[in-house]
Amino acid sequence: MIQRFRGKGVYNAMALGRILLFRKDNTAVERVSVTDTVRERERFEKAKAQAARQLEELYHETLRKAGEDGAAIFRAQQMMLADEDYNDSVYRIIEDQGVNAEYATAVTADNFAEMFSAMDDEYMMARAADVRDVSGRLVGILRGKSCTGTDSTGTDSTGTDSTGTDFTGTDFTGTDSRGKVILCVADLTPSETAALDGDKILALVTAFGSVNSHTAILARSMNIPAVIGVGGKFMDAVRNGDEAIVDGGTGEIFVNPDEETRAKFLEKQRGDTEKKRLLQELKGKENVTLDGRKIKINANIGSVSDIDRVLANDADGIGLFRSEFLYLESSDYPTEEQQFTAYRKILESMEGKKVIIRTLDIGADKKADYFNLKEERNPALGFRAIRICLMRPEIFKTQLRALYRASVFGNLGIMFPMITSVSELERILEICTEVKEEFRKLGIAFSENVEIGIMIETPAAAIISDRLAPMVDFFSVGTNDLTQYTLACDRQNPDIEQFADTHHEAVLRLIEMSAKSAHRYGAWIGICGELGADTTLTETFLRMGIDELSVSPSFVLKVRDAVRRLDLSESAR
Ligand code: PEP
Ligand code: MG
Repeated sequence: MIQRFRGKGVYNAMALGRILLFRKDNTAVERVSVTDTVRERERFEKAKAQAARQLEELYHETLRKAGEDGAAIFRAQQMMLADEDYNDSVYRIIEDQGVNAEYATAVTADNFAEMFSAMDDEYMMARAADVRDVSGRLVGILRGKSCTGTDSTGTDSTGTDSTGTDFTGTDFTGTDSRGKVILCVADLTPSETAALDGDKILALVTAFGSVNSHTAILARSMNIPAVIGVGGKFMDAVRNGDEAIVDGGTGEIFVNPDEETRAKFLEKQRGDTEKKRLLQELKGKENVTLDGRKIKINANIGSVSDIDRVLANDADGIGLFRSEFLYLESSDYPTEEQQFTAYRKILESMEGKKVIIRTLDIGADKKADYFNLKEERNPALGFRAIRICLMRPEIFKTQLRALYRASVFGNLGIMFPMITSVSELERILEICTEVKEEFRKLGIAFSENVEIGIMIETPAAAIISDRLAPMVDFFSVGTNDLTQYTLACDRQNPDIEQFADTHHEAVLRLIEMSAKSAHRYGAWIGICGELGADTTLTETFLRMGIDELSVSPSFVLKVRDAVRRLDLSESAR
């Protein structure tokens, strides 16, 4: 029977397909001391045999539904189960440390995954996901059996989510003929969303989460129809393999749709396809209003692989590269060389078009374990972004060196997040000067034309924008954070979304105030927060004097269309 659910649509596209429920097992694996290590080895052997049988079944099932390409992953995982080094490692940990098989498996998974991730080879890097997946399966089987039993003498925990949340190799039961599913999860962190394989996912549905979370932003930039926050009951009400329609525009989900609903869906989808086709005709056209005002429409990205979408949507440039994703995707601080390679690639691919790279904006919801950030009561008001960079200048300088070295390969702008004071900006500019001085001494090439900008995403920055503007080339308004801080509404909290009114007069006045300050001192101003794509405000922004809008790649043409329909002349008022 048809079931209806409603959440918040975050990417306006529709999908019809089959549901895959993905339940994360976040319980840390316990380290239990054991004396009978022979028994632990036997438990491990039995778990392996069961895992091998499960993988065999999965292989055949997936082969039938998704073909050899989709199924091959399970063959690779079976081989991993038999891998000598992997097995030796588990045995050694059991014997040497006198611990339970679950713990030995989880630690082995972490060690192997880390080793694979560090390899400079995409194939090997992908194996990290496999080893986590297969180990997660083993731990699951081990946990499902009688407990470790023997004489536990104190426990601690690896703190590791042994299953990892990596969807590669997930049990894609119920994939459609293209091997794609509607992925349904309770919630996802930004790095988990970044790890999603867009080729396997038709749509994304989460039980929890808010529309301004980085998860939602990522789903948008990956062009994945997504509905967020459908509620906790959803995961229990649907089953793997159920057919569903996901409408990322209205936020509606229809599970087991009847013929009438299906027909409506197909009609709406045809309409959407036609609208998209019309937008395609705007490629190559200018972002110019009817009365001749031109603006730039750039794209926001979070990874090098997003560049294809930037180019396909004909953006003028990149207005925001969220560089922290380089850090989130990594298990240790990315080196100067790794960062340089990524920045250079982006600059070269954009062939002289503007590329604005935002320095590390980690903290709050974007966390990487190796930063060892303390738990905070109010992380959004805590130790994050530029605060971390200024307190740990070695991390900051590594990034700046990579950026300045890459600057000779294109048209770079560097932007700093979460600015609240003049003294902060003075210190940042000093550090940039130090890096450039070092380069001059060492004869390392860099461009003298790198534009320097700051994000206006705290009320403080907007209020003192007249003091900050003379120090920079540009401002970029981060409306996501500016809204959260101005209206005192945590952007991660879906329960207060009704209070986070992005059209609030206070937010709009702060943007206008910043635009006036920027122009008074010869700086330009853009908007890179999600509000930049809200076409009901395009006219307001242009009238304020906004010079650039930077939006998810998939919104570039929609905003271009809105700009080209505007008449800002006095007579049109
Ligand atoms: C913003 O705050 O509006 C912004 C663009 O930055 P982020 O969403 O990455 O915090
Ligand atoms: Mg922000």
